Amino acid sequence: MPFSALGLTKHILQGVQAMGYGDPTPIQLRAIPPALEGRDLIASAQTGTGKTAAFALPTLQKLGSHGRLRCLVLEPTRELAMQVETAMRDFSRFTDLKVGCVYGGVGYGNQRVALKEGLDILVATPGRLEDHLQQGTVRLNDIEVLILDEVDRMLDVGFLPPMRRIIAKVPKNRQTLFFSATLPPEIAELANFALRDPVRIEIGAARSVASIVKHGVYMVDPSRKFDLLLALLTAVDYQSAIIFSRTKHGADKIAKKLRANNHAVAVLHANRSQNQRIEALSGFKSGKYEVMVATDIAARGIDIAGVSHVINYDIPQHPEDYVHRIGRTGRANMSGDAFTLVAPDEAKKLSAIERFIGQKIERLTLEGFQVPPNGENAAAKPPKPEVRMDGRKFFRRGRAPRR
Ligand code: AMP
Repeated sequence: MPFSALGLTKHILQGVQAMGYGDPTPIQLRAIPPALEGRDLIASAQTGTGKTAAFALPTLQKLGSHGRLRCLVLEPTRELAMQVETAMRDFSRFTDLKVGCVYGGVGYGNQRVALKEGLDILVATPGRLEDHLQQGTVRLNDIEVLILDEVDRMLDVGFLPPMRRIIAKVPKNRQTLFFSATLPPEIAELANFALRDPVRIEIGAARSVASIVKHGVYMVDPSRKFDLLLALLTAVDYQSAIIFSRTKHGADKIAKKLRANNHAVAVLHANRSQNQRIEALSGFKSGKYEVMVATDIAARGIDIAGVSHVINYDIPQHPEDYVHRIGRTGRANMSGDAFTLVAPDEAKKLSAIERFIGQKIERLTLEGFQVPPNGENAAAKPPKPEVRMDGRKFFRRGRAPRR
């Protein structure tokens, strides 16, 4: 079914066409018609599925033309907020709607000016939005569409309390579009609070990894991890690679050592200033940097075409992070490789990932790096299942604190 059959108006279709989109993706097919009818939605679809257009297009159509601030989108990270702002602007280029974005880590001046000049759509991270609310530089009295995106990641970064306070300031008579890959109790409770008789949509990608991504595991002694990383970067023919580190400090260390080995490296984590992050992302996109070292939260949802390799220097702490990380490659139907370095005592985490994605990940070896003997002998205890939003059971990570 083409976009033109979904009930979108001419100006919105022109925006879609200008983006060069072909047919709608499954989430777009299923979300756009009920959203156009004004229904609330609760959808599990991760980035990469086309969910931004799924919530943006019906919203732009509903708003029509420039007026007051009527749409608020909440995002867990600055990068996602900027990405969604850009997408909203792109889709709305044949309308006179005004889109703006507020996030922390930068000055207030430009944000205040944009808010004062009058926006129709505001994309925000919860912390900075609350600052603006306190300062009286933004009012949410006229919001008609509230979009809560990546809500499970909001939970991870401690944003549920500010989100709840913000939702309480938005008129009750509104449309709410809610996106979360999983629905643990805290999020189910927030959904109950925020939504009215929602249409439920589940796109099965939440635990699957794109089939165009080849992925494998290298068992390695922790003391040899960096040497293996260097050897891998030499052995594989990569265009651009994202390397995931568990901690910010670890990311800095890996980057420093890679630079010492003549790699052009960008670093992305929450302790970097906003300007540093923008520079890292644009440098990585333009090819100035061939490698980006990132933490999970900073890299969440980042949409960069042409990432040929994802290397998990540290195994993800939570199985669903594996899917998110791997999703940074293989985008837009390009193929990609994803490698995970696993220390012998991390075998349980590896089994949890394999259970979560429902497939065994191939074991690989690189010459000179032999597999430690009792590498994967530790039998994992079966974890307690939780229930997904469609009622199916799934295995969620332990609630370890995030760093
Ligand atoms: P998202 O999941 O919204 O982050 O989208 C992932 C990527 O797919 C973005 O680069 C979008 O521009 C692109 N995209 C979204 N919908 C479509 C579509 N219907 N056809 C082609 N590309 C799309």
